[in-house]
Amino acid sequence: MAGLACAVQLHRAGRQVRIFEASDAVGGRVRTDKVDGFLLDRGFQVYLDRYPETGKLLDLEALDLKAFEPGALIYRDGRLHRLMDVFRRPASAWSSVTAPIGSLSDKLRVGLLRMKILNSSFEAIATREDRTTEAYLRDYGFSESIIDRFFRSFFGGVFLERALRTSSRMFEFTFKLFGQGSATVPAQGMGQIPKQLAVLLPDGSVQLNQAVQAVGIDSITLKSGECIHGCATVVATDGSAAHALLPGLGGPAPEWRSVTTLYFAADRSPIREAIICLNGSGAGTINNVCVISDAAPCYAPEGQSLLSVSVLGLAEVDGRLVEQVRAELLEWFGPEASSWRYLRADCIRRGLPEQLPTRSAPTSINHAGVWVCGDHLSSASIEGAVVSGKQTAAAILAAKDSS
Ligand SMILES: Cc1cc2nc3c(=O)[nH]c(=O)nc-3n(C[C@H](O)[C@H](O)[C@H](O)COP(=O)(O)OP(=O)(O)OC[C@H]3O[C@@H](n4cnc5c(N)ncnc54)[C@H](O)[C@@H]3O)c2cc1C
Repeated sequence: MAGLACAVQLHRAGRQVRIFEASDAVGGRVRTDKVDGFLLDRGFQVYLDRYPETGKLLDLEALDLKAFEPGALIYRDGRLHRLMDVFRRPASAWSSVTAPIGSLSDKLRVGLLRMKILNSSFEAIATREDRTTEAYLRDYGFSESIIDRFFRSFFGGVFLERALRTSSRMFEFTFKLFGQGSATVPAQGMGQIPKQLAVLLPDGSVQLNQAVQAVGIDSITLKSGECIHGCATVVATDGSAAHALLPGLGGPAPEWRSVTTLYFAADRSPIREAIICLNGSGAGTINNVCVISDAAPCYAPEGQSLLSVSVLGLAEVDGRLVEQVRAELLEWFGPEASSWRYLRADCIRRGLPEQLPTRSAPTSINHAGVWVCGDHLSSASIEGAVVSGKQTAAAILAAKDSS
């Protein structure tokens, strides 16, 4: 996403661009595969429809975004409890207030926090005191009960870690976007997002299956040995690959948050609602489940439903894991889970770069004449990658104009 955003901006400014992509399609961590008529994103992820900079690049209408409900069903004590954003779903106020997920004062605090964050600009959030999300929630007065039963699973799914070590600025940034808009997926899969950017570039400017082995200020060398010349080089890989290509790049290579996503096919949806289900039980392997075809029906063939199950960390995918997950699904959704057909699992080692508090890096770097962008320099999100890519394009144009 960072490389495509950068290339689109440079192309719009009249520059000639070429992208060399190591894998067999564009998108990096945002890809969708078609398997047996199902659309399987590589790991469960969503597009927040209020992403400011990505929204300016994309044709959101053409993506036909399908939204999830603003809230969650939380599994605890053998059943699913409804906890909604009562400002947007007032009809669910009673079930949300009485759900055994935190106290009444916790729920009032969620309302106060919502007001505070929605009234803060992104610029203000970016300069706030930074600490871990866990410390932030405790300092705000939330009880351990709501932190454990709701925040750890909801934001654990977003940050890919339940300890909530992630920066509180990232928490506020994400909370604001969830509060202002919707979590969505494009009707035809997350992979449509990078594909839409790629078609904005001239034919032939993206070359697939072309791993870059070495980079210099005005040339790159492909794994095949071919050398390509240009007037600026941008390394838009993930953080670890950038450190491998540029050994002198400042700071350590990022630590990674991993996730394992399992997909199941069902004859019918167990909830018939586009809503995320969270594990608030304090036990078990699953962090979150959603029937993605309830939001976007094209994700499953006619007459079937697609469930996505996220297990945080890198699980070893074998029959035991699938049976463990199925046993938990039986507890959450009842006996019908025994008939669900396991489709596949995606083990994503390099999911998100860790985002600890007070990590301060520029969103675009010029390292010895080579430009670097990507989510590792910004926020670990589609928006973060796009912001970094756009800022890199602007910096290149400014540098070329002044030389
Ligand atoms: C499971 C999961 C869930 C997520 N959930 C969300 C979410 O809900 N919302 C959200 O906004 N974000 C989410 N993200 C994060 C988001 O997908 C990433 O932050 C973003 O896509 C990163 O984009 P990038 O361009 O910085 O890097 P990447 O997507 O990693 O792209 C780097 C590209 O560089 C290529 N490359 C690497 N080395 C070479 C080389 N030597 N030569 C040529 N090419 C090379 C790679 O093949 C890749 O295409 C999620 C990520 C994952 C994995």
